[in-house]
Amino acid sequence: MEFLHEARPMRVVFRPGASVTAVPDEAGRLGLRRLLVVCGPRGAATARAVADSLGDACAGLHPQARMHVPVEVADRAVEVARAAGADGCVAVGGGSAIGLGKAIALRTGLPLIAVPSTYSGSEMTPVWGLTERGVKRTGRDPAVLPRSVVYDPDLTLSLPVALSVTSGINAVAHAAEALYAPDASPLVALMAEEGARAMTHALPGLAADPGDPQARGQALYGAWLCGATLGATTMGLHHKLCHVLGGTFGLPHAETHTVVLPYVLAHNASAAPEAMAALARALGTEDPALALRNLSARFGAPRSLAELGLREPDLAVAAGQTAGQTYPNPRKVTVDGVRDLLRAAYEGRAPEPS
Ligand code: NAD
Repeated sequence: MEFLHEARPMRVVFRPGASVTAVPDEAGRLGLRRLLVVCGPRGAATARAVADSLGDACAGLHPQARMHVPVEVADRAVEVARAAGADGCVAVGGGSAIGLGKAIALRTGLPLIAVPSTYSGSEMTPVWGLTERGVKRTGRDPAVLPRSVVYDPDLTLSLPVALSVTSGINAVAHAAEALYAPDASPLVALMAEEGARAMTHALPGLAADPGDPQARGQALYGAWLCGATLGATTMGLHHKLCHVLGGTFGLPHAETHTVVLPYVLAHNASAAPEAMAALARALGTEDPALALRNLSARFGAPRSLAELGLREPDLAVAAGQTAGQTYPNPRKVTVDGVRDLLRAAYEGRAPEPS
């Protein structure tokens, strides 16, 4: 056995109600007295409750987060943070809100507390993203890694089933690619397998009863573990392909991950037998690619890239862009291989090993 494991600083508070009961304590622990709370427009009511819990330590509420963090949205948020004399930031919401908090942290160095309300896992990574004139840039910087992450399953009770399922499969995608990442370690593998198990077992219960606290807690616990594996490893073909589909063709984030993942797994399976065995154990199946596709389809998730608005001529362009980059993947990435995979995902056929 041979591995390198580098633990990132990680402080996590996980309990129902923690968004209002734990955030003030976490701010106090970090010595912060004037926090700007950021969120998306639809998350304003929840973020207001967090802001109120901070009392005098709240420097304002800025409900302007947008998908993929447009640079002008980040500029404005930095101005607001500076004008308010903020000494820290709290991001409440999904990957978009946390992305805005990270952009503020990147530009100002202000410490960030994250309060996630989806399963995207962004709160566990030092990766930031900014979009300028339609082009999304990403980078890694330890300054954007939240100093504290407050997981409150109650916040996710309002997450619609469709989004819960696609966001949940987005989390499983992190675990799946971490399992075959070149920088995985035995600890990462344990977290990935357990994260995928918790999430895939939680989704049916959550779809049957979105208000089930047990299922919501399990799903968020899975999201934490899957997110931690994303932060710890270098992602492969699946994440690159989804980045191209989102960045160049404007496809929606979690839905795209959901449609694409089974096809990438089927494509990589022969070159990553240990990762596939771990996923098979986690899902309780012999064919994790097909099982993931059936799981999401059972709860009404989109099945094909055509449904998400991709057009046939886009397949070759996306394949060229995806194969033209350098990143680790267990199987050699070729234009033909990606095009075949994309065609199957475009049509929504059952994924088959190739
Ligand atoms: P999102 O944050 O855009 O949220 C999707 C929708 O769900 C929004 O309309 C939001 O208002 C709503 N929503 C969120 N939580 C809710 C709740 N509890 N109840 C009801 N509605 C709720 O989507 P996302 O999938 O969480 O994040 C996607 C973004 O995050 C993308 O830009 C992606 O690139 C980024 N991301 C970054 C990383 C990273 O490591 N940097 C990791 C994963 C995702």
